[in-house]
Amino acid sequence: MSTATLNGVCPECETDLTVPPVNRGETLSCPECMLTLRVEEVRDGRLTLQMVEVQLRDWGQ
Ligand SMILES: [Zn+2]
Repeated sequence: MSTATLNGVCPECETDLTVPPVNRGETLSCPECMLTLRVEEVRDGRLTLQMVEVQLRDWGQ
């Protein structure tokens, strides 16, 4: 049996997140604090999430 959704907790606002299956290395957005979170680990239907420092890049058109 595999679960249809995965659960994790936002490291910033501690909101419980239920998301469709994702793979390690993918990113999510927390619906509460809008932070970008990267999936560090997926184990037993639980996600380990780490906030991503969003670096704004000037591509200098
Ligand atoms: Zn959050």
